[in-house]
Amino acid sequence: MPRLLIIGPPGSGKGTQAERISERLGVVAISTGDIFRANVKGETPLGVEAKNYMDAGDFVPDSVTNKMVRDRLSESDVQSGFLLDGYPRTVAQVDYLDEILAGDEEKLDVVLQLIADDEELVSRLLGRAEVTGRSDDNVAVIRHRLNLYHEQTEAVVAKYTEREVLIQVDGIGGIDEVTTRIIDALSNPRYLQPL
Ligand code: ADP
Repeated sequence: MPRLLIIGPPGSGKGTQAERISERLGVVAISTGDIFRANVKGETPLGVEAKNYMDAGDFVPDSVTNKMVRDRLSESDVQSGFLLDGYPRTVAQVDYLDEILAGDEEKLDVVLQLIADDEELVSRLLGRAEVTGRSDDNVAVIRHRLNLYHEQTEAVVAKYTEREVLIQVDGIGGIDEVTTRIIDALSNPRYLQPL
């Protein structure tokens, strides 16, 4: 029952790789960004609350995000494991997730960090903006999201490094190439049962 987190700066390809890896491992992928976007689209109370933060590239407040994740992790499809994408991204969220998991005597087995430099990320996200029109893919908001990653989410990475569950993967290259790197890294029996 693998429990994984994929973490990386905006534009690093987390969502794309999360889908592939979750399929490969037979676990559900849970993307907080996707859940928020679906709620914004459906104009639910949660979406209405999250929208302004997302458009500004700010984190949605923990009070909202933590509860949403707790609810999601109480559903039955996570019994066979899960791959979190986009949560936790603050140290406070790490503590909250620890508590949720400890309640079931669980913890994260592996944290995969995708690495890419800021200039590559900005150009990828600007390219994506032309295709998807995501409301937070414009240059000022992209810079802000990258800054938040450096200021807050790198501390999350440091925590999981200390716990010796972190795997770093180079996120530069073709989509298939990066998937192969991840699968190879996960094949190390130190992290998961052989794939
Ligand atoms: P990105 O690649 O920019 O990180 P995501 O799709 O993962 O994109 O997230 C989009 C937005 O959703 C974030 O900018 C933020 O507003 C909100 N969000 C997603 N996950 C979280 C989280 N764990 N905590 C707070 N806000 C979040």
